Amino acid sequence: MAQPDALVIGSGPNGLAAAIALAQAGWKVTVFEAQPTIGGGSRSAELTLPGFVHDVCSAVHATAAASPFFRTLPLSEYGVEWIEPPAMVAHPFDDGTAAVIERSIDRTAAAFGRDRESYTRLFGGLARSWPRIESSVLGPLRWPRHPFATAAFGLRALRSANGPARSTFVEDRTRALFGGIAAHGLLPLDQLLTAGFGLVLGAMAHIVGWVIPRGGAQTLTDALVAYLRTLRGEVVAGHRVGSLDELPPATAVLCDLSPRPFLDVAGSRLPVSYRRSLERYRYGMGVFKVDWALDAPIPWRAADCARASTVHICGTMAELNRSENDAWAGVAPERPFVLVAQQSLFDPTRAPLGMHTLWAYCHVPSASTEDMTARIEAQIERFAPGFRDLILKRSVMGPREVETRNANYIGGDISAGWHGGLQFIARPSWSLDPYATPTNEIYLCSAATPPGAGVHGLCGYNAAQSALRRSFS
Ligand SMILES: Cc1cc2nc3c(=O)[nH]c(=O)nc-3n(C[C@H](O)[C@H](O)[C@H](O)COP(=O)(O)OP(=O)(O)OC[C@H]3O[C@@H](n4cnc5c(N)ncnc54)[C@H](O)[C@@H]3O)c2cc1C
Repeated sequence: MAQPDALVIGSGPNGLAAAIALAQAGWKVTVFEAQPTIGGGSRSAELTLPGFVHDVCSAVHATAAASPFFRTLPLSEYGVEWIEPPAMVAHPFDDGTAAVIERSIDRTAAAFGRDRESYTRLFGGLARSWPRIESSVLGPLRWPRHPFATAAFGLRALRSANGPARSTFVEDRTRALFGGIAAHGLLPLDQLLTAGFGLVLGAMAHIVGWVIPRGGAQTLTDALVAYLRTLRGEVVAGHRVGSLDELPPATAVLCDLSPRPFLDVAGSRLPVSYRRSLERYRYGMGVFKVDWALDAPIPWRAADCARASTVHICGTMAELNRSENDAWAGVAPERPFVLVAQQSLFDPTRAPLGMHTLWAYCHVPSASTEDMTARIEAQIERFAPGFRDLILKRSVMGPREVETRNANYIGGDISAGWHGGLQFIARPSWSLDPYATPTNEIYLCSAATPPGAGVHGLCGYNAAQSALRRSFS
């Protein structure tokens, strides 16, 4: 191997984005991946039966479609095709109906009764201001290009999700729908900043759609790798880096790692004060995930659920709050909030003809060993009677397996660290350049840096810019 200019540890979407951004600048880059397959949180595999392609981690890719960096890459030339389902997300209720978000704000709001105007005003305003606030929402903390629009968004996003759910909407259905979207943040909905998740992900449903990649999350990874190779970048799979001392010399080492594994790999090269600040980094709740091979599509009682790529299962806002508060407090929820994705309904490449895949997870206490399979299936059965009879095979992944498969997800925390409190902006610690470390050649480029979790590659892109800036100065 020729001596590289940059080494990247970890081939998640951020590691690959960092490698591409550096290779585009003419650097020779090599990526090392611990697992035998490339992609980190963006992979697919036949987890159940031959012919059933399951997304091992990420399933719904609104953040990838919205990513200003991915938008610049020729991903479609390398096989990425976004499928937009007829509806983005459905939220079923016990009366056999569902609240649904469509791509169109007007069509969505038209079904929301007394919340029609509030919904149109809130998300219509957000969609219009998105081009002005995008770089602030998706970038590291810095003076915004459009301070008034950003401040207006920030004041709303700072609140707890329960705040706008109660003050903006009057219908229980709209409140629960908004709460379900905000709960993607893996935080109890009475915590500050959780409104931000509901606003950003809700707005993305209208701006780019909650799209899924044809063929599975792996196609996005494969496209990134194929493009990287055209730029002379290399990816070495099945090579776990135990310590930076094992690596050849390079101008920069970018670590697609969350703080705990980062300290294991790079700790001896970092000053004590910085090490201490990373040791204070907090991880949050874990997830319990189940994938199924099904004999037929899910028999939803609410027909609208069959139009959406994502279905949020929890019923009311009260039930949702109970589930998230329990998981946060260390109790495995009796009736968990279940996030469901049903990709094969819209992508026939995922399962044999007439059969289907199903992907779901719920939030559980960090490192919980409780088996949530029966509780997750009971929640789905509640809104789709007959679901259990369709199961051909299931694959189960509790928080410990999630961490075993990816060292970044401590205790099963798929966000690579809590997004709450000050850690939301000081991620992983206070710094105007959170990607650079005090050690000149070492950088962090994982979801433990801004803008945080999700498949968007922006942490990697921003880290690469930091490395380029430092090397030129
Ligand atoms: C179950 C689940 C569901 C999710 N659903 C969605 C979703 O629907 N939509 C969405 O946008 N996001 C989703 N996410 C989150 C998303 O996958 C992550 O936020 C994203 O992958 C983070 O990317 P990353 O590049 O920072 O790190 P990762 O994707 O975590 O990649 C890090 C890589 O580093 C490797 N690594 C770790 N240690 C070493 C080492 N010592 N040496 C070499 N390699 C190492 C790991 O094996 C891994 O491949 C989900 C995640 C999970 C787990």
